[in-house]
Amino acid sequence: MPISDRLLLGPGPSNPYPEAVAALARPMLGHMDPEFIAIMDETMARLRTVFRTDNALTFPVSGTGSAGMEACFVNLVQAGDTVIVGVNGVFGERMCEVARRCGADVVRVDEEWGLPLDPQRLLDAQREHPEARLVAVVHAETSTGVENDVAPLAALRDTDTLLLVDTVTSLGGIPVEIDGWNVDAAYSGTQKCLGVPPGLSPVTFSPRAVERIQTRALPPQSWYLDVSLIANYVDGDSRVYHHTAPVSMVMSLHAALGALLDEGLEAAWARHRSVGTRLQASLPDLGFRLVVPDGHRLPELTTAWLPDDADDAALRTALLTTYGIEVGGGLGKFAGKAWRIGLMGHSARDRSVTTLLGALRELLG
Ligand code: PLP
Repeated sequence: MPISDRLLLGPGPSNPYPEAVAALARPMLGHMDPEFIAIMDETMARLRTVFRTDNALTFPVSGTGSAGMEACFVNLVQAGDTVIVGVNGVFGERMCEVARRCGADVVRVDEEWGLPLDPQRLLDAQREHPEARLVAVVHAETSTGVENDVAPLAALRDTDTLLLVDTVTSLGGIPVEIDGWNVDAAYSGTQKCLGVPPGLSPVTFSPRAVERIQTRALPPQSWYLDVSLIANYVDGDSRVYHHTAPVSMVMSLHAALGALLDEGLEAAWARHRSVGTRLQASLPDLGFRLVVPDGHRLPELTTAWLPDDADDAALRTALLTTYGIEVGGGLGKFAGKAWRIGLMGHSARDRSVTTLLGALRELLG
């Protein structure tokens, strides 16, 4: 069956970096082979650089971004814990659901879709619930294109409440400062700004989070995602088998992180900012209206209301079949009304913007 070569400008997966694709074709190694262990070690070191952290426990979880989300919640939360979650889109909702399934009492801090969460409201919720074990927030809400401000939540370091951040759509695309913002745990995904196919979820845990995990009364309900067990394989000298590492995916992540760091993290952030700004400046000329107010827009994921007379499904089908371009439809309450246009990783190029705008001009013109 022929498979088309698409320009992936949806909410992920993005087009992977060529280095990430080439690495998938490298010879297979055993997951205990010293050569693979060296690749894993270097991948973890590169992840620390990209997360901007010294956290020893920083590694790629086997599975997509949701596996990283589950790994953080199942390890950090015990039944009966209070967990505060900021919700202004689908992925905040998903956090609530995952926390609930861990037996947590979830305290929601809601904001309208398309608007950013006020970090002060999360801090106030923590003051009202000082017993809360966790405050959780999505940094880049992929369902709405909003950036939630994480830096002010660093104030949680003076409390017993840990800070958990979803960086699935932010890592590699916009500044993420795990140590600078006193983030205790974070997870990401490979298929967005890191420019790797879907399949791994980089995570990082601060010493405070590790202590929380080590002092649990009961082990987490998930054996597969039990970070204490996985740590015996990814960390230290013993390298105890836990589960078979997804060897080719780790090689792909290793190669993409190499490309990203060769470019320079700041340069990659500037590239995402530049192409996102260009797209956002051009869409109104085509009849689109930007959903998110200026100052809170993600450069790597733009949400825009469709022109009044445009047919969402017909337009996206024409883009895909005639031009080979994928963009994302709206999620949840934005379905059928708004688009989500991603410029992430290797897709975050001027040529992507030029190609998309040209195709849209032909289709709408
Ligand atoms: N969190 C955010 C912000 C996301 O955008 C996504 C996926 O789009 C996820 C979590 C879940 O990741 P995955 O679909 O890779 O499991």
